[in-house]
Amino acid sequence: MTTSVAGPMPTQDTDTVSGWPAAPIDTDRVADLIAQLLVELGEDPSRDGLIGTPARVAAWWSTFLSPDSDATVTCFPEAQLSDQLVIVGGMSVWSLCEHHMLPMNLQVTAGYVPEGEVVGLSKFGRIARQFAGRLQVQERFTRQVAEHLTDVIGHDNIAVAVRGEHLCMSMRGVQMEAARTTSLHASGHFKTDPALSQQFLTLAAAQWNAA
Ligand SMILES: [Zn+2]
Repeated sequence: MTTSVAGPMPTQDTDTVSGWPAAPIDTDRVADLIAQLLVELGEDPSRDGLIGTPARVAAWWSTFLSPDSDATVTCFPEAQLSDQLVIVGGMSVWSLCEHHMLPMNLQVTAGYVPEGEVVGLSKFGRIARQFAGRLQVQERFTRQVAEHLTDVIGHDNIAVAVRGEHLCMSMRGVQMEAARTTSLHASGHFKTDPALSQQFLTLAAAQWNAA
């Protein structure tokens, strides 16, 4: 049986937050397709345990692809900061690997050196959630979070480190349960000052070890 999937393909620049997803997904259509998938996988979507599954899966996709779009970042003036390193860690978001459509858990730590103002802390997590709510690869996610933070902070003295656990590694393929992938985006002083960079990495690793 051949099934063609109609509908708009996302063509926007995937780097923009507001342009994603391309359109609200048609949950009825997605539920139909999930039911068809179940049939192709040898299942009976009308049996008791599966009766509501296509609708639940479709609703989940809709939620996953529409993370909180209000990631406006509040900055607070703070004149008394002198070369202080600010680290925001403990952010854990779920995304989907675009190669296998399997979950990846991303532990995000961001660091920056404030220049006259500090960023409202709660916004970091929202930014991370926004870029996680799509088909992703960890390296692009890391860069997108860093570039977005650079935009809102207004300078590029910023570093973002991400430690990811990929189910495509732990439940398929090489099946390495304990494998973790770490990615780092460093710019500005974090790129040119090895001491600052090292300090950031030490503090980021401490966050992960404490988690
Ligand atoms: Zn994968």
